[in-house]
Amino acid sequence: MRVAMIGTGYVGLVSGVCFSDFGHEVVCVDQQTEKIDTLNRGETPIYEPGLKALMAKNVDSGRLRFTTDLENAVAAADAVFIAVGTPARRGDGHADLSYVYAAAEEVAAAIDGFTVVITKSTVPVGANREVARRIRAARPDAPVAIVSNPEFLREGAAIEDFMRPDRVVVGLESDRDERARTVMSELYRPLNLRETPMVFTTLESAEITKYAANAFLAAKITFINEIADLCEKTGGDVQAVAKGMGLDNRIGGKFLHAGPGYGGSCFPKDTLALFHTAQELDSPLRIVETVIAVNNARKRRMAEKVIAACDGDVAGRRIAILGVTFKPDTDDMRDAPALVIAPTLIEAGAHVVIADPEGRKEGEALLPGAAWAVDAYDAATGADAVVIITEWNEFRGLDLPRLHALMAGDVMVDLRNIYRPAAAAAAGFAYSSVGRPAAA
Ligand code: NAD
Repeated sequence: MRVAMIGTGYVGLVSGVCFSDFGHEVVCVDQQTEKIDTLNRGETPIYEPGLKALMAKNVDSGRLRFTTDLENAVAAADAVFIAVGTPARRGDGHADLSYVYAAAEEVAAAIDGFTVVITKSTVPVGANREVARRIRAARPDAPVAIVSNPEFLREGAAIEDFMRPDRVVVGLESDRDERARTVMSELYRPLNLRETPMVFTTLESAEITKYAANAFLAAKITFINEIADLCEKTGGDVQAVAKGMGLDNRIGGKFLHAGPGYGGSCFPKDTLALFHTAQELDSPLRIVETVIAVNNARKRRMAEKVIAACDGDVAGRRIAILGVTFKPDTDDMRDAPALVIAPTLIEAGAHVVIADPEGRKEGEALLPGAAWAVDAYDAATGADAVVIITEWNEFRGLDLPRLHALMAGDVMVDLRNIYRPAAAAAAGFAYSSVGRPAAA
């Protein structure tokens, strides 16, 4: 199949590269010339494990190209994916669909011959019907089918997730849309080998599935975070509780890790957009509303937890922060808990020094007033406290006695529970974590 992928962000680029690896002929389009130049030099504008090598392999095979020329890419394509951003709209928290609709209109103008236009961006229920309406209004003559195909990949494991998804969800305009169904089956055919379930449904169901899945996961994280608070008050250990809960197959152990609250480019904006859509339709989602409020408050409370660990005052103290990206193995800083925790500490007078393997490029502008170190030991040198916010692998195996020896103080706040309290205490740390008792 000939594919045009509109938008080369985390989702568009990964999807484009993976579809070319499936054997399709893919042209990735972006309106940012700088991004396309970077890609054409063989570099990736984002950090995603394995992406650069897979991209090079498929560029070399001649199946993958990058361009700013949307018109020609769309005219030549059988399938056009829209994978542009849908950030939270400033002011009201609704999903901002302006990029999706603008892309749809550009696509409409360029369609040549039967084309399936597929929305991969996360869009609220009803948006695909509006995409269809706009395309048909612009080009009543054009033979098109509109499909919703939400993406479930996780940054940091994006290629693996795209190549081995739990399922592929495909929303069609109508049950009788056999041509679109055939194109979608053909696009994902290599997944048949793995017997990946394809869920064919309506546009509305596909749209709601994506938001419901993200909101459910966000609720699971928020639930275990509140249980962690209860553990702290009572001497319970949230890791033991999560294990005991998660071994029940109806619950499952994933997304039961207590921490500083969820962040990232999807959960915060998607829970908010879902809540607003539901409110507008007079079908309230009170659980989602509470999840959003509890998670926002939690990020602020994590800064207070650090201040409390420093005897209630961080003014003039040097605090090393390990990890600022919203999770490991990505450079994405969108809505990261560190964007609340670090500024609160700086405002309270702390001198914050950050180490993060990939976060500096994005993080420097977002965290004014912080200094940057080359690694954890550099950040900890002379520090009164070390705070772990993101569980990068390189922070999991630190030489704790060495880290402690470099510091001026002995406080460690581990917001990801990556160390055993007894091991941290043995290395000399006054150690606290999330929902676990201090070492006996
Ligand atoms: P992003 O902001 O990283 O990338 C969007 C890209 O689209 C940008 O490079 C932008 O220049 C380009 N673009 C915008 N309008 C364009 C146009 N008219 N023509 C050409 N290019 C255009 O976004 P992302 O993180 O890849 O997310 C894209 C969508 O996928 C969002 O709806 C998001 O919610 C969803 N999603 C994201 C993830 C994730 O992990 N990031 C996972 C699943 C779903």
